[in-house]
Amino acid sequence: MHILLVRFSSMGDVVLQTATVNWLRSLFGAELKLSFATSREFASLLTSHPGIDNVISFDRRGEEGFDGFLTKLRKMHKFERFDLIIDLHATLRSLRLRTFFWRVPALTVDKRRIERFLLTKVKSVTFRKLFRHRSLGMEPQVERILKDLETIFGDTIARRRTEDYRKGPNRELTSLPKPQAFPLPGPYIVLAPSASFLYKRWPVTSFVKLARELLEATGHHVVVLAGPDDKFCEAFGEIQSERLLNLQGKTTLAQSMSVLSGALLCIGNDSGMNHISEAYGVPCVTIFGPTDPAFGFAPHGERSVYLSKDLWCKPCSTTGKSTCYRDRHYCMELVSVPEVKDAALRILEGA
Ligand code: SF4
Repeated sequence: MHILLVRFSSMGDVVLQTATVNWLRSLFGAELKLSFATSREFASLLTSHPGIDNVISFDRRGEEGFDGFLTKLRKMHKFERFDLIIDLHATLRSLRLRTFFWRVPALTVDKRRIERFLLTKVKSVTFRKLFRHRSLGMEPQVERILKDLETIFGDTIARRRTEDYRKGPNRELTSLPKPQAFPLPGPYIVLAPSASFLYKRWPVTSFVKLARELLEATGHHVVVLAGPDDKFCEAFGEIQSERLLNLQGKTTLAQSMSVLSGALLCIGNDSGMNHISEAYGVPCVTIFGPTDPAFGFAPHGERSVYLSKDLWCKPCSTTGKSTCYRDRHYCMELVSVPEVKDAALRILEGA
């Protein structure tokens, strides 16, 4: 059987969908051929993943365009026919892909858009408590993925194998391929202060204060990871310590993966970096602002924790993209440096 998985973005979602890869591989073993269609910028997350046979990517900004990508997929289909398409993205673009391969059976996951939308719009506390309840499907994303797949392959064998998989010693919810070594003095804690949208960021001043306190409280190094556009990380320059390494803009995605895989702990926002660290079994402290852990993106690792304030205005958008409409960015400002530091130290003490 040859299955094509489709998830174009974003980074964290692509990482979380490795739960699908691992589940399918555990269910079908070597008899399954698995291809993964994604955007070019995230392909390096999956290339050489042991559960994936092919990563097919398209360049969203390149000349090839989506039509060229579909043509490339059609050529592949000619020689290695897809038996099933699982659309893990459920967008207009992925619908186009499914329509293009209309003869191939296709399944689409339920992204709980209505539940998420209602959570942002209904400001009644009781209503929100009800919607945050796990039985309504607002459990962690990785659990939802398994549930969705059980439904898709809804026979008793699939259900029994899923139970074994959940409990088993080889249970890997998310995972990423072993990265190339990126040598750093260790042991170290990673701070990932960036996020896809401005209001999902804990203030950089808080991150700087946290870095300073962690350097004082532990003998560990602190490594800052962020992309080339995250110039706000220059604020870490005020810390004069040889145990602080600011790698903002200095690593490729593959190198960032390597740094995260070797960390003791990652502290960051509701962003892809935390999902990557968990895929390597590295615990994380995730700070939630305008989004809600009930959306399903809270960390799932046993040692990981999240911090999220319960405010009447929160969540204010499903992705964190909206502009804050209050006089201050309360959802993030109310998360204090001492509580993040305490959460981090508890994890380190239990290591
Ligand atoms: S303070 Fe409220 S309105 Fe502003 S970003 Fe946070 S959740 Fe949204």
